Amino acid sequence: MTVTDRFLKYISFDTQSDENATTTPSTEKQMLLAQALKAECESLGLTEISLDENAYLMATLPPSPSTVDPVPVIGFIAHLDTSPDMSGANVKPGIVENYDGKNIVLNETENIILSPKMFPELLEHVGEDIIVTDGTTLLGADDKAGIAEIMTAIQYLINHPEIKHGKIRIAFNPDEEIGLGASKFDVEKFSCDWAYTMDGGEVGELEYENFNAAAAKVKIKGLNVHPGYAKDKMRNAGLIAMQFAGMLPPQERPEHTAGYEGFFHLTGMKSTVEEAELSYIVRDHDAAKFERRLKQLEEITRYLNTVYPDAIQLEIKQQYRNMREIVEPHKHIIDLAINAMKEAGVTPIVRPIRGGTDGAQLSFKGLPCPNIFAGGLNFHGRYEWVPVQSMEKAVQVIVNIIKLNR
Ligand SMILES: [Zn+2]
Repeated sequence: MTVTDRFLKYISFDTQSDENATTTPSTEKQMLLAQALKAECESLGLTEISLDENAYLMATLPPSPSTVDPVPVIGFIAHLDTSPDMSGANVKPGIVENYDGKNIVLNETENIILSPKMFPELLEHVGEDIIVTDGTTLLGADDKAGIAEIMTAIQYLINHPEIKHGKIRIAFNPDEEIGLGASKFDVEKFSCDWAYTMDGGEVGELEYENFNAAAAKVKIKGLNVHPGYAKDKMRNAGLIAMQFAGMLPPQERPEHTAGYEGFFHLTGMKSTVEEAELSYIVRDHDAAKFERRLKQLEEITRYLNTVYPDAIQLEIKQQYRNMREIVEPHKHIIDLAINAMKEAGVTPIVRPIRGGTDGAQLSFKGLPCPNIFAGGLNFHGRYEWVPVQSMEKAVQVIVNIIKLNR
């Protein structure tokens, strides 16, 4: 089976996760794909296959018999679920062969068009075969491209016993899109020296830096009085909330930042005169700057509490941390991926992630885990697409990493 055959098979499974669920997997349907993959691992002759009740599937490609010196055990990981942002049910993919650089009509009746004007990245893939949606669902390249690439690379190594390699572990996990992919991941059982998630975007992407992240809730207590008799009595929680929001630097918002610039992002606000609440997420790659941001929130809270005694309560919840501090001491993990890409004719693009990854959480659980491209673009929506050639490159990169690990 080619990587494309596998990809098309996997996206026929609806595996949308659900952020409101309290179970793992968050949706039972993710288990169906996990079971299908388990059967595929069995038919490939993999060993140490385990699928737990939370839909974490692990398997082993045993080392070549003639391997003299044992080499480090490397893992490859992808996630089963697709984003809750858009339906992944009844995906009807189309393949645009030998793409000519023009508009791609995804859906004639609804006039949904994938255009290089809106998405100039398309022009980097002229002449390639591009898999698209019919405009009514997401595609699921995030991250079924990753799963297809890992399975195809494993199959390739089985078919080519002349390529000597060490022990390889693979894992597929649920619920990455709701931030829980790593939470029940048994790092000890996986038992690898390091791993890579195949969950990046454009061909060449290699990521090992992500945000430090926290969520902040600002709760404001007001005092409501009949507006006709409010003089010197009323305290309007909504206005205090606006004052709070106004004290944060407007240039440090997601819409004004890029690269290594951090931000405060107001994700929600609700208010009456009586009470108000602001929800923020705070992000920064730099740990010291990140701490300073949290301090800033505390200082504003303290100041406003002197103006409006005890009106404001600040709750900060740490979310995840930058994996760079874990990965960087093992620089060879990065170098190995870079060399594997170059050998596959792929130019590495090393970029800080403006978000988090499962790999970051896994890194802090003791499994250093950079993220490699899976090849798809426009994740989480109807314009998602993936070039066949990018998936093929990813397969080569996996094979090369395994080859070069000695
Ligand atoms: Zn993903």
